[in-house]
Amino acid sequence: MDEALIRKIVEKVVTSLAEGIPAPAPSAGGGVGVYQTINEAVQAAVVAQRQLMGMSLEARGRIIEAIRRTALAHAEDFSRRKFEETNMGRIDDEIGKHLTVANKTPGLEILATEAFSGDHGLTIVEMAPYGVIGAVTPVTHPTPTMINNAISIITAGNSVVFNAHPRSKRVFAYAIDVLNRAIAAAGGPVPLVSCVAEPTLESSRELFAHPDIRLLLVTGGPGVVAEALRSNKKVIAAGPGNPPVVVDETADIPRAARDIIAGASFDNNVLCIGEKEVFAVEAIFDTLKREMIRQGCVELNREQTDALARLAFGVKTGPLKFGAVEPHLNRELVGKNADYLAKQIGLNVPASCRLLIGETEFEHLWVLEEQMMPFLPLVRARDADAAIEMALIAERNYGHTAVCHSRNIAVMDKMARLVNTTLFIKNGPCLAGLGSGGEGYTSFSIASPTGEGVTTARHFTRQRRCVLVDYFRIT
Ligand code: NAD
Repeated sequence: MDEALIRKIVEKVVTSLAEGIPAPAPSAGGGVGVYQTINEAVQAAVVAQRQLMGMSLEARGRIIEAIRRTALAHAEDFSRRKFEETNMGRIDDEIGKHLTVANKTPGLEILATEAFSGDHGLTIVEMAPYGVIGAVTPVTHPTPTMINNAISIITAGNSVVFNAHPRSKRVFAYAIDVLNRAIAAAGGPVPLVSCVAEPTLESSRELFAHPDIRLLLVTGGPGVVAEALRSNKKVIAAGPGNPPVVVDETADIPRAARDIIAGASFDNNVLCIGEKEVFAVEAIFDTLKREMIRQGCVELNREQTDALARLAFGVKTGPLKFGAVEPHLNRELVGKNADYLAKQIGLNVPASCRLLIGETEFEHLWVLEEQMMPFLPLVRARDADAAIEMALIAERNYGHTAVCHSRNIAVMDKMARLVNTTLFIKNGPCLAGLGSGGEGYTSFSIASPTGEGVTTARHFTRQRRCVLVDYFRIT
């Protein structure tokens, strides 16, 4: 019997037994794929990845399907646990993020082989795995990022060791265990996904330095990006953003208001792509503000806006001007509901309010710092050119995301050329940039600093060229 046939038979048996196979044993860290040290996790991941390489693409497809199904089945479970542990964001939106990554992260179809054929034969370019990938995830969406990363990384034939944000370690380890059990039940090797029970900055450094890690994927703020780039490895860095929104006089104002509110209030504005500041032209500024209030926003006056900024950025006295003070984002306010933020400055707003707004000047900390909470500063601009100019500065050269509401194609074109961001969304909420209400697939790791953009399985592969000389140009 040839090897391929034997492999097919073994796979068939494994699949048919899948429901009945004994559950994989928990690791020393407390769950399947949860370890006490990075080294233990990496060693186990090396073995699992080799086993994956011995399986067919069909079997890999079944593993990916199992991950998707499990993410859907546990969307509410993971979201509630995340909320209990981090006290951040909105459960319904967290559930939505799980559905998006489960349904819209590309699988094997994204790894199409490239072929060149001609007088000198046939050349194919195939996507090969790296081996074991080391990944770091943010506290803002631990399990959606993990599931999205896992689908992409395993589709590409790798295994992955995660170092989660310490404040999300419990839900993370729980989900790693659940996913590995689902992978095993689908006939896959475990642990294809793993983590340490007690992630720390030290354990992330161990991950970055481990000789068996071939590639790093980090998703987070400037600190983790800088640290990963100091390693001697290839890095895919999904860093911070501060997405500006430009609204000009040609925009459909009620629709612009609706979309800005939908994006900026989603999960209490913790998304890196979330609208973080608005530059609206003078001619429609007041109309836009009125429309946002009509659609449920509460406006803070100048004093209230500044009082909340002092709490949000830890600035007790002095100016709230970018560059004049050293802001320290108050993690206790990140991802909290709008009514909770209002209460901190002695204001009662209805729990139904999803977003606070307030007028500020351009240099304000609210505008130029990534706030990650549902207060949105509105800045007046003389005209569209001035609005774009401010938006470029506010984006801080992160190259991440920008939004424009206009029906003037020249304004949209000018901003598109100048802003140079990975995502540029016109006439929709930021979420449309990741396939939610716009076309295209999703990713929860938008790699702007290193240029991969909306990451997929392709980014976790090495390209290999296979050349047959003079044969197999068949037409
Ligand atoms: P964070 O930077 O505090 O932490 C992110 C991760 O990096 C955590 O796991 C943390 O433990 C780790 N980390 C932080 N500093 C480190 C260091 N010096 N060395 C090693 N590891 C370190 O960010 P957060 O609050 O968890 O997440 C929010 C940030 O992430 C925002 O800036 C947001 O824009 C960004 N983000 C970006 C994307 C993207 O796709 N580009 C997606 C989600 C979040």
